[in-house]
Amino acid sequence: MINKLKLINNWKLSAENNIKSFIDKIRKEDKKINAVLHINEKAIEQAKEVDKKIKQGKAGKLAGLGFIVKSNINVLGMICNCASKTLENYRATYNATVIDKLLKEDAIILGMANMDEFALGSSGENSAFGVTKNPRCLDRIPGGTSSGSAASVAAGFCDFALGSDTGGSIRNPASHCGIVGFKPSYGVVSRYGLIDAAMSLDTIGPLGLSVEDCEIIFNIIKGKDENNATSRDFIGRNFSSEKKNTDRIVIGIPKLGARKEIWEKVLKQVKLVAEKNNWKFEDCDIKHIDLGIQTYYPINYVEVFSGTRKFDGRKYGLKIEDSCGEEVLRRILGGGEICKAEHAGKYYRRALKAKNIIKNEFEKAFKKYDVIIMPTVPRTPHKFGEEITLEDMYNYDTLTVLANIAEIPGISVPCGTIVEGKDNVPIGIQILAKVGDDNFLLDVAKKFEN
Ligand code: GLN
Repeated sequence: MINKLKLINNWKLSAENNIKSFIDKIRKEDKKINAVLHINEKAIEQAKEVDKKIKQGKAGKLAGLGFIVKSNINVLGMICNCASKTLENYRATYNATVIDKLLKEDAIILGMANMDEFALGSSGENSAFGVTKNPRCLDRIPGGTSSGSAASVAAGFCDFALGSDTGGSIRNPASHCGIVGFKPSYGVVSRYGLIDAAMSLDTIGPLGLSVEDCEIIFNIIKGKDENNATSRDFIGRNFSSEKKNTDRIVIGIPKLGARKEIWEKVLKQVKLVAEKNNWKFEDCDIKHIDLGIQTYYPINYVEVFSGTRKFDGRKYGLKIEDSCGEEVLRRILGGGEICKAEHAGKYYRRALKAKNIIKNEFEKAFKKYDVIIMPTVPRTPHKFGEEITLEDMYNYDTLTVLANIAEIPGISVPCGTIVEGKDNVPIGIQILAKVGDDNFLLDVAKKFEN
């Protein structure tokens, strides 16, 4: 992306040509992938305006770059339907804060990405408008729920994409599609204009071809926003200022279940990078991190129930219970039940307690370790049509939900492939850091790229 920005700023590539070639590619190739739900018909016109600004020397930092937005992030004038029949024709009346920030830097919106309906799912199969395919292995799922965002980056449809991550939805599809996906600390990026999945866990973040690309976007979208009371600025560590090259980073490797070949790849990479940089790594013990899924789902169910009460068919779209798919309905009905039983404080409040315990355990671990590393997803993505139980579906996120529970930043970086039949299936390595250490994490993650 840096090189492309140079070309654009030196007038060697026009914004118009950059955007036009993406739009052409999407029109031609997305029929087989189904990553994009709506193309921005004004994109080329907008690119011409950006070209004028570049010539006048008045253009922003992202001038001429094209990006794709997950369909649960409001973009003025575009249909943001969360891949649901409920909001099928809902056209956004305002921009999310992240969108305003990117447009201010003269990036150009190419279109809205397919996703699992209302950001609930793990595979990209829950869209009301058809599944998204994995550009790296077309008969496999791309992962979810930012399926269209990850697939768009992997297919070369855009310079970068925006996704949202509640329990893994940026990192999981990034891992399956062989790209980089970054979930910032909770609150570092404003949620204003994001249609909630579970508001105490939701985080907007970038997906790109490299850590540096994600860093460039993150640095633009981060920061406290008056429109979102839970947003804040963090003064985290900075790799270059505090950790000199000679300093030793200590990596913790927790014990967690994942397929043997995946762990082997991840450990091999850790060893390689640690040796090269003179870093240290060791097994670490973080209590209760095997309870991520059990902690995450009650919270998710209750917050999905509460957050979707506005879709009663009066103001926005159709009544959600009458128009949504199976997984969304399961969360609404389940969340409603949990709320009813709640006078006993049995589920939601217990899950919140467990969340706090896990968060504290991570805080303790980060006193000793600079980063914690594990696989992003414990298994490879299944093929379309393969029978998979609900439990297996939920377990795709065993390793990613932890960052949302602990509110810490997490990134997935490609870590080679595993051969399965004819397929070279991408694998991701996941790196976690303490709350607010987002930029430090990005710097460490760069060392893990090939
Ligand atoms: N797979 C998880 C869920 O279904 C996470 C989704 C997400 O991060 N949006 O809730």
